[in-house]
Amino acid sequence: MLTARELYYSLESCYGCPDWWSDDPYRVMFQSVLVQNTAWTIVERVSGSIDPLTPGWVSSVSQAELEDAIKPCGMSGSKAATIKALTRWFEGFGFDVNAVWDIPDDVLRRDLMSVRGIGAETADVIMLYSFHRPVFVVDAYARRLLDRLGYRFESDREIKDFFETGLSHDAILLGRCHRLILDHCIAHCGKKAVCDGCPLAGMCRFGPRGSSSS
Ligand code: SF4
Repeated sequence: MLTARELYYSLESCYGCPDWWSDDPYRVMFQSVLVQNTAWTIVERVSGSIDPLTPGWVSSVSQAELEDAIKPCGMSGSKAATIKALTRWFEGFGFDVNAVWDIPDDVLRRDLMSVRGIGAETADVIMLYSFHRPVFVVDAYARRLLDRLGYRFESDREIKDFFETGLSHDAILLGRCHRLILDHCIAHCGKKAVCDGCPLAGMCRFGPRGSSSS
């Protein structure tokens, strides 16, 4: 089985070095809520139509106005409530990422998950991409890919440990790795796998080679 680092470089050599989610920490927060059960293309279109997309703007509009602005993303009532609550939480730090700097990782994660509508995956996205904390985001794509490759993790915690330790607790590598897995799953390893041309086919237990040898 590949180590986390070998898996990372296998994907990077195929898909290239991915961009960071966004250089704007608040945009990451906003989009991390919108993307729940929604296609990324819709999230980008909706985010792009809000100008300026700032915590100040979200604070200044009513929840109904916010719902209206994000309607194409679905579940606009609950998402608007979550964005409002998350923005209030961020306001407690003066909308300043530097003010969050000293909060330990476990406390920050717990604080984020105490915000209505923020689950473990969204909290990890914000920790990693907004605050550059060295956490791996475990999502359905990562679980599926690892399972098909033949890893047998008992829990999300084990998956996190595999990547966080294997990638030296480097937030940049962890963010890129999460993105590379997403790119790979979109290109090849979706719900219905497209194994022809897959760069991981030679090491996969689910793909053509694994099937024929089992
Ligand atoms: S060989 Fe198929 S199942 Fe395995 S990683 Fe590639 S696309 Fe996914």
